[in-house]
Amino acid sequence: MTDQLLDAAEFRTTVRAFANREIHPGAAFRDETREFPAELVKRLGEQDLMGISVPEEFGGLGLSTKTQLIAIEEVARTDAALASIYTAHYLGLEPILVGGTEEQKCRWLPRLASGELLAGFALTEPDAGSDIASMRTTARREDDGWHLSGSKTYISNAKEADLVVLFAKTDPSAGFRGITAFVLPRNTPGVSYSEPQDKLGIRSAPTYTVYLDDVVLPHDAVVGTEGRGGNIALTALNRARIDVAAMANGIALRAWELGRSYAAERKQFGHPIAEFQAIQLLLGACDAQLVASRVTADWAADVKDAGADLRRAASVSKYVATEACFSIVDQTVQIHGGAGFMRESEIERLYRDCRILRIFEGTSQIQLLTIASNAPSPRSTDF
Ligand SMILES: Cc1cc2nc3c(=O)[nH]c(=O)nc-3n(C[C@H](O)[C@H](O)[C@H](O)COP(=O)(O)OP(=O)(O)OC[C@H]3O[C@@H](n4cnc5c(N)ncnc54)[C@H](O)[C@@H]3O)c2cc1C
Repeated sequence: MTDQLLDAAEFRTTVRAFANREIHPGAAFRDETREFPAELVKRLGEQDLMGISVPEEFGGLGLSTKTQLIAIEEVARTDAALASIYTAHYLGLEPILVGGTEEQKCRWLPRLASGELLAGFALTEPDAGSDIASMRTTARREDDGWHLSGSKTYISNAKEADLVVLFAKTDPSAGFRGITAFVLPRNTPGVSYSEPQDKLGIRSAPTYTVYLDDVVLPHDAVVGTEGRGGNIALTALNRARIDVAAMANGIALRAWELGRSYAAERKQFGHPIAEFQAIQLLLGACDAQLVASRVTADWAADVKDAGADLRRAASVSKYVATEACFSIVDQTVQIHGGAGFMRESEIERLYRDCRILRIFEGTSQIQLLTIASNAPSPRSTDF
């Protein structure tokens, strides 16, 4: 094994041991109670997992995106809800990393990368989901700062995060080019939150509607420059979509493990069901889908780290992994028979948890549209 592979294997073993020991045992309870796992979020920071691919000059570990994917996979394998909080943190720090000024990077990234601060990302509005240019939240420049009014919805970590990067229109007539990104610290006067939204899955990862009632932010709260927010949002989303692919791969890996062990234990017609070819075909298909998804995510991670255009690779990785995850979890429920439909079974939770993956950070349809519009020319050899 090369040093790199050895390091990756060691890293996975370390994170898996931590996740098995500290995350997995309480996951079902947190799903039941919808309790935000504040202590575990702190532990992720203590394990040096909150800024894995953030450059060392900004306080991160400066490791590859592939390494970050390993950590996300392992967290998702034990608790998809915690993985959602975790990936929302990475999504929240990305706008500062890709669009912030040097001063903003130095000010915020080291504390985010160490886990001292938790981040969030507030783009979606009640009437602006896939179509971000139609957002209605506005920010008006006054002498005392920017005045923000409007609302955001489905925002992960909104109330728990120490800062949220929030997008608003600074020039409502300019569509996509009129969007600006702002750093919104917690407890800023004028910000209020709904109750945590009641959800099908990832129930201990809270989302909120956020209300902005003439919120005043300093002039230097603008991430980068005015009018670049749309671009920053899409760049951050592209980068973070690979993290969602890793989250899908972690859930799918756990489903496959559960399917294999259930098939080995469950006997019908005098045999473990694992001996029936029909079950072997399901497990074989799950394995093949998972291998393909992981290879695809690693490819997208390499494209990102090479600094190449990420739009197609990020969307391919998210689409492939999240669709595969849903299929793998569904087939694993099938392997469990009636037991897989019961609240007490882990696969039932995974079935609910994985449904969100095909919706957030761009639905599967939006990924396909992105892939289609960024496909290489048929004459290109870059396929
Ligand atoms: C649990 C959860 C957590 C979330 N966390 C965050 C967060 O932290 N920050 C944040 O900003 N947002 C967050 N979101 C919002 C999420 O990103 C959006 O829900 C998602 O982008 C889809 O937007 P929408 O719900 O408005 O659906 P819509 O955009 O209204 O789409 C509805 C349907 O129409 C389809 N559709 C839309 N446009 C097209 C088109 N042009 N062509 C074909 N089909 C189309 C979609 O694929 C979908 O099937 C979260 C959502 C959930 C549920």
